[in-house]
Amino acid sequence: MSTPPPAVVWFRNDLRLRDNPALAAAATRGPIIPLFILDDGGGPRALGAASRWWLGRSLAALASELAALGAPLILRRGPCLQVLRDVAAESGARTAYWNRQYDAASIARDTEIKAALTDEGLDCHTYNGSLLHEPWKVKTSAGGPYRVFTPYWRAVRAMSANLAPAAGVLPAVVGAATLRSERLGSWRLHPCQPDWSAGFGDWRPGEAGAMARLDAFLDDGAADYVHGRDRPGAERTSRLSPHLRFGEISPHRVWAAVQSAVARGDAPEPQAEAFLRELGWREFNHHLLFHFPLIQTNGFNPRFADFAWREDTEGLNAWRGGRTGFPIVDAGMRQLWATGWMHNRVRMIAASFLVKDLMVDWRRGEAWFWDTLLDADLANNVCGWQWVAGCGADAAPYFRVFNPVLQGEKFDPSGDYVRRWVPELARLPNACIHQPWRAESDILAAAGVRLGETYPFPIVDHGEARNRALAAYERL
Ligand SMILES: Cc1cc2nc3c(=O)[nH]c(=O)nc-3n(C[C@H](O)[C@H](O)[C@H](O)COP(=O)(O)OP(=O)(O)OC[C@H]3O[C@@H](n4cnc5c(N)ncnc54)[C@H](O)[C@@H]3O)c2cc1C
Repeated sequence: MSTPPPAVVWFRNDLRLRDNPALAAAATRGPIIPLFILDDGGGPRALGAASRWWLGRSLAALASELAALGAPLILRRGPCLQVLRDVAAESGARTAYWNRQYDAASIARDTEIKAALTDEGLDCHTYNGSLLHEPWKVKTSAGGPYRVFTPYWRAVRAMSANLAPAAGVLPAVVGAATLRSERLGSWRLHPCQPDWSAGFGDWRPGEAGAMARLDAFLDDGAADYVHGRDRPGAERTSRLSPHLRFGEISPHRVWAAVQSAVARGDAPEPQAEAFLRELGWREFNHHLLFHFPLIQTNGFNPRFADFAWREDTEGLNAWRGGRTGFPIVDAGMRQLWATGWMHNRVRMIAASFLVKDLMVDWRRGEAWFWDTLLDADLANNVCGWQWVAGCGADAAPYFRVFNPVLQGEKFDPSGDYVRRWVPELARLPNACIHQPWRAESDILAAAGVRLGETYPFPIVDHGEARNRALAAYERL
């Protein structure tokens, strides 16, 4: 029997071998050419610097797994359509496989590519590799998209009773003749100007790292998720977000692993349900971005188009640098800078501080997160920010302004998180760790804190800032 011509497998946000529908389908057909394209011009939003760091390492991990199977990963840089054409012409491939993406720019690009390649005689096959359900499959009784999370989640939960990964095993991959590949190092994915990635070392990008995170979470965090997930000092969440963002693990696989842990009695059902619900928020955000693509840049609630955001460069810079004088906010912003990740509860507090206490446009904060988060994900980031700002679908009401002191005292009661990330406050007693400006001078002196020198005074009075924000909201 003659070998069929090779098929191109175009890797994008699905940098894994297991439970990868496009790869599995191509591998059953014959030899494959695994391809990754770095397209820095046009198309979907350019990756932020932290995401580029992750991408470089994740591609290295994928390349090494593929090389071990005898199917080396081909790396090319350039416009996607042109690269796909070149690779097909050089290899004689007549088919291309990829997993779908759901933001408007990716859809437009992929539609154009599919039409052009089909015209040129290539068969293109696309799959869902990144969501539990395609966004158009979850519909209200009237047939439209959901705008409110709770009924959305009820529908998704009911549809998901039997979700399982397509295949947890390695597909039997056969490589095709090797083509020219660019050197990963020449892509300059590592940050420079500045290189702030020294603290990213705890992460292990790639499929094996993702599986290790999932296993560790199921062994350790899942049993206490409901309480633990709100304790930034306790590190009880899964930290799967960058792995899910780059598709190093599929949500199906995470879902199935959690269900198995429940069935074995290793994870109590209420804890597991709370965790699955968070995967549900991820799905919901992608559902929203697919159905309402304008939310990428505009509030879901159009009334916010006229909101009187303030220009406050000094405040924005203090926020970015973790120098606002509010310890829980500063701890979060410093954790982000040091590790490329921030705990969800603190993301909410820090984001609220920017959009409400400083009244800086949520898009400014979203852009900073986009650049500095290793898990920067268009749907989750935009929707997370809009949820906090009050302009999103099913958002927190604008008038609910987080008090950073009370939030700190509630969710970091022993001050562990603040002490870890704001070490200059570490010797303060718990009673004033979240509001050092209220501490008696002898307590500050004993702890080595000199306000205005070793740690800033608060850059706003929270009570006044809250009133200012509420007045602006009233004027909408
Ligand atoms: C202002 C703001 C910006 C955010 N930006 C991003 C972003 O760019 N990328 C991103 O992945 N998440 C973002 N989130 C959501 C959330 O903070 C992270 O997904 C979560 O902290 C990741 O940690 P984890 O993997 O340990 O989560 P776990 O608690 O272990 O949850 C498991 C998975 O569920 C998903 N998830 C959890 N919480 C949420 C949530 N609130 N919304 C959507 N999905 C969730 C993530 O994929 C996560 O990996 C943002 C939240 C806010 C408030």
